[in-house]
Amino acid sequence: MALENPAGAAPEKNEQPLAPGLYLVATPIGNLQDITLRALRVLRLADRIACEDTRQSAKLLAHFGIGTPAISLHEHNEQARTADDLLPLLVAGGRVAVISDAGTPGISDPGMLLVRAAVAAGVPVFPVPGANAGVAALVASGLATDRFTFHGFLPEKSGPRRTALERLATLAPDAGTQIFYEAPHRILDTLSDVDAVFGARARVVLARELTKVHEEFIRGTAAGVREALGSRERVRGEMVLLLEIAAASPGEAPGRSLRARVLELQRTETLSEKDALKRAAREWGLGKSEAYRELQRERAAAPARKACGDGRPGHPAPDPAPGLAPGPAPGLAPDPDGREARAGLKRESEREAVPAPPWKPAGRERL
Ligand code: SAM
Repeated sequence: MALENPAGAAPEKNEQPLAPGLYLVATPIGNLQDITLRALRVLRLADRIACEDTRQSAKLLAHFGIGTPAISLHEHNEQARTADDLLPLLVAGGRVAVISDAGTPGISDPGMLLVRAAVAAGVPVFPVPGANAGVAALVASGLATDRFTFHGFLPEKSGPRRTALERLATLAPDAGTQIFYEAPHRILDTLSDVDAVFGARARVVLARELTKVHEEFIRGTAAGVREALGSRERVRGEMVLLLEIAAASPGEAPGRSLRARVLELQRTETLSEKDALKRAAREWGLGKSEAYRELQRERAAAPARKACGDGRPGHPAPDPAPGLAPGPAPGLAPDPDGREARAGLKRESEREAVPAPPWKPAGRERL
């Protein structure tokens, strides 16, 4: 078996040769500058590059002048490719680099089976870290980073998706942030499901087009983020959905509405509407303007929900809102231009004008 790289990528003068083994190499998720120097070296010196899509990766490799032979490794051939080609090459002392279309291989992308086989065969496995959409979204989200769970994609169909979300309702109060990959054609339905299951208990961040020209973060409740997205002509781009779910108040069923909580506080603690909303906002982890918008939204939706409670299974409609007059809550300034809900847009001026990678038009879906 030939282990030589026919592209002639011998180590440069004083360059360490590449140790034999399997390399999991992260590639950019939109911004070419996110390739690492080590990634380039490993890709250049490997005997083979196993690519999720050889045509996609050809553009990246050509851009960086890398001529290492490529071989496909995708969800439909990973098992056979591992057994027939890549593992024998690795066991014989070869160097194999794995890359996906974008980001870190093995994360909602091929790689795991090959890594398992390599580990089982005693082949050294080396991570070559770099871009990952989930972690990039998390660190800039403003949600908890001390604990988080990555779930990959939610189920496509509404029933199983609801069930998956309902399972999260039993999470420990300090479970941190829940991270999902999502597709633009499903995001509105998914946000409806998040709203139905958690209501305003879920702080939501939608991270779109990370590291690209139109990068944005939309923050708020599920309903607020849905409204911001739904008002657009088209929902597009690659996106990560992050949820931080506040603990239910004692005796509170998951998915309870903010409006119901405000009413309860007014009734049981004889708080004014303004103070009740302030308190509920704190409990839900919302800013004052976000809470006010959520209350308005729930009020607007109330008549439609009358016949079937508040729209959530097992949750009767709350009592009519005594003293909850329409219009801004006293002392709570409305957010007339929706600035907070579109927090991501604030960053327009700070954003680097980074071109989409040449091998993939910005906003292209990879599903
Ligand atoms: N392995 C990749 C990683 O490390 O992030 C993820 C691959 S997964 C097949 C692709 C999904 O990741 C997209 O549907 C989207 O949810 C998310 N994603 C990838 N690039 C993104 C970006 N630039 N901005 C936001 N989300 C992105």
